[in-house]
Amino acid sequence: MNVYDSARMADVLAPLGYAPAASPEGADLVILNTCHIREKAAEKVYSELGRIDRLKRARRAEGAGMLLAVAGCVAQAEGEEMLRRAPQVDLVFGPQSYHRLPDLIARAEAGGAGIVDTDFPVESKFDHLPEEAADPGPAAFLSVQEGCDKFCSFCVVPYTRGAEYSRPAADILAEAARLVAAGALEITLLGQNVNAYHAAGPDGEGWRLARLIRRLAEIEGLERIRYTTSHPLDMDEALIEAHRDEPKLMPYLHLPVQSGSDRILAAMNRRHRADDYRRIVERLRAARPDMALSSDFIVGFPGESDADFAETLRLATDVGYAQAYSFKYSPRPGTPAAALEGQVPEAVKAERLAMLQSLLNAQQEAFNRASVGRNLSVLLERRGRKAGQLVGRSPYMQAVHVAAPDEFLGSIADLTVIEAHPNSLGAAPLPAGPTGSWPETRAWA
Ligand code: SAH
Ligand code: SF4
Repeated sequence: MNVYDSARMADVLAPLGYAPAASPEGADLVILNTCHIREKAAEKVYSELGRIDRLKRARRAEGAGMLLAVAGCVAQAEGEEMLRRAPQVDLVFGPQSYHRLPDLIARAEAGGAGIVDTDFPVESKFDHLPEEAADPGPAAFLSVQEGCDKFCSFCVVPYTRGAEYSRPAADILAEAARLVAAGALEITLLGQNVNAYHAAGPDGEGWRLARLIRRLAEIEGLERIRYTTSHPLDMDEALIEAHRDEPKLMPYLHLPVQSGSDRILAAMNRRHRADDYRRIVERLRAARPDMALSSDFIVGFPGESDADFAETLRLATDVGYAQAYSFKYSPRPGTPAAALEGQVPEAVKAERLAMLQSLLNAQQEAFNRASVGRNLSVLLERRGRKAGQLVGRSPYMQAVHVAAPDEFLGSIADLTVIEAHPNSLGAAPLPAGPTGSWPETRAWA
């Protein structure tokens, strides 16, 4: 979502004459768009600010200026405090106020020092953003929902992104049509709780995510639809059926479970049990047998015992993930879990994380190995690290490398997988230049 937000900030700034710079050296304006989800991410911001301050001083020594802005959830959470810790910062603004950037920058340019805008405005920023100008590329993002009302006891999102909000379906459909017209073949619908999506449809009825996806699938030229991130509680029957009926909806779902222990799930305020999650996965796989699953896990939540952790390993073993993210619990100021007794020692967290990751890595490798010899459709998104190589994504989100000329960039190719690596696949080389056998090929440069 920060990638999406950064592109929208570029749209807002374009009429003021700003364009993206290749690096912060020599830039007139540097914006750090930040994440507050875990302590490590938040701390990185301050070390980065130190580095950029040196660039700012160097520029001042040349007689030029540099505005330094901090956006996103760290800005939202820290507010004025950020100016105290990092006085070199000119502007601090949260994820719901970046449509006000022109005004904020005008004030900063007029010599206003230390401007902070961390209100949650009553108006939605989406009503004030210009049409996207940034090149979406073949695989585009589209924010449909933001914020969260779930208040999991470990999580800062409800405090930094604010209350749950879903954009009207008509606005989303119009944005999707523009992205496809600009060359996008795939759209990933974004939201902190994307499957909680509910808003007015163009017909005046209340639309949920499944309805939105079905209507998006009617857009000609749009080949692939994904959505992230989903909460198990909002995985309704209509959405599961959409996975059965809608071929454009990719057979991959990031469905975080966090823990396999009912006791810990309750303490996390996730409001479902481990078996509820298992049932959802069964229903998804009944609807779409090749469904690949991904998840987020937290180890070392306060009070997590060896037995609780063993339940997490058991759940991961039962589900069998195509890939997954796992984190050590990080206490976040102001969240209920940070004040709980029974905080788990760092060494225990590290040990559990290593155990879980070795299981999840083995599952990912097994999933990738099972792809060898299969034909997969791959959206070739960018050049690879090696010359003459392109990289894309399989329907199951695996990174796929193939030797192919640039003409294939931005096309969907049917490729035979010839090798599996821990984090990627290799596919058979493509012939030189597009041929009649690649009807979906679109020049992308
Ligand atoms: N809305 C999504 C997740 C958003 S946050 C959901 O409900 O699942 C992304 C991930 O960061 C979470 O799934 C969680 O695994 C992790 N995370 C959030 N807060 C954390 C914390 N305090 N410590 C460690 N990991 C955390
Ligand atoms: Fe955070 Fe997700 Fe829980 Fe919302 S549902 S509080 S975003 S982890």
